[in-house]
Amino acid sequence: METVLVINSGSSSLKFQVFEVHPQQGATGLKRQLKGQVDGVGSRPRLRAVNWDGSVATDRTFSTDEMPDMATAMTFAADWLRSTQQHVDLFAVGHRVVHGGPAGDQPRLVTPEVLAALERCIPLAPLHQPHNLAPIRVLAARRPDLPQVACFDTAFHRGHGPLADHFAIPLALYEEGVRRYGFHGLSYEYIATRLPEVAPDIARGKVIVAHLGSGASMCALENGRSIDSTMSFTGLDGLPMGTRPGQIDPGVILHLMSGKGWDAAAIERFLYHDCGLKGLSGISNDMRELEASDDPRAAFAVDYFVYRVALSTGMLAAALGGLDAFVFTAGIGENSASIRARVAERLAWLGIKLDPTANARRNLRISAPDSRIPVLVVPTDEESMIARHTLAVVTAKKNA
Ligand code: AMP
Repeated sequence: METVLVINSGSSSLKFQVFEVHPQQGATGLKRQLKGQVDGVGSRPRLRAVNWDGSVATDRTFSTDEMPDMATAMTFAADWLRSTQQHVDLFAVGHRVVHGGPAGDQPRLVTPEVLAALERCIPLAPLHQPHNLAPIRVLAARRPDLPQVACFDTAFHRGHGPLADHFAIPLALYEEGVRRYGFHGLSYEYIATRLPEVAPDIARGKVIVAHLGSGASMCALENGRSIDSTMSFTGLDGLPMGTRPGQIDPGVILHLMSGKGWDAAAIERFLYHDCGLKGLSGISNDMRELEASDDPRAAFAVDYFVYRVALSTGMLAAALGGLDAFVFTAGIGENSASIRARVAERLAWLGIKLDPTANARRNLRISAPDSRIPVLVVPTDEESMIARHTLAVVTAKKNA
């Protein structure tokens, strides 16, 4: 059986999923088989994988001598995958790549030229792009015959109009690539493809999707296309996140530099690792822990998060010129009934009203029958989106 391997590679973890290709079956022709990850690279390396029926396929820990870096992590994962006989016949590999650059408006079959162009995007996403590209390079060297497809988190937003795509800075910087790219695009694209299936009445309308996870952003969809998003040049803008502040006055950064003498590296560490829910609460970046805590600082961090989701809803509703539906997704959006209830309470002025039972049960539709705007919970699935793109790009190439 041919398979598509999906890889999502970060700085200290490598996530992978295997999909069987069944061209004659179902809308997408893909059936998920296995999900795994190597994490703790550099501290406590561990390779785990589960089959889609929930059974454990492997769970091994390693010493840091055995698995010192991401390159060895990749080798261990690849060797293990090869040892599981049913997954050997790779049709193609799809990669999550955070940045596709100004021209990256769709997934691309990896060629040396495409890889070089993606490497030129490293300054636009220095913390993620190098880790996303590393396994592509390793596989290209080891298996040059194997088609690889790069799927960008920015691609779904590349159709934004110029007003949504610009900062108010000199145009020369825009030409150099300083633009409001937007991220979490694979998640929003998946939701946009799901809506016609699960809620055809609103799928073509003006929809705000709140991707609330440890990274968090919101997207305005119209007729299934992204119109605007809260994230912009990097994953720092917009909503507060687990450890990132979200929207912040650039004057604060100037203050840290000239008032406190912080250098670029210290500021980068601060913005990516010490702010957001963690910085505000001083307790945790994890919404579950904050919701369970009776510390007032935890309650304040949660209040702030909810407030900013509501503020951003106003902004995106203005971008859309109206609102037909609101969708929650990702770790917090899918799992926290209380955050959903509190966001909805703040949006009561829009005519939003939840059905508490439907919300507690996490039904697809959690709004009350008399809510002016339907509210939904739609679980996201970025890996499935990558697998679909990979299959489509490689099949089109083979048929060309
Ligand atoms: P993600 O990045 O999409 O995996 O989401 C991770 C975030 O979802 C973390 O902040 C978790 O604390 C949060 N999360 C997961 N389950 C729950 C839950 N039941 N209640 C509140 N937050 C949750």
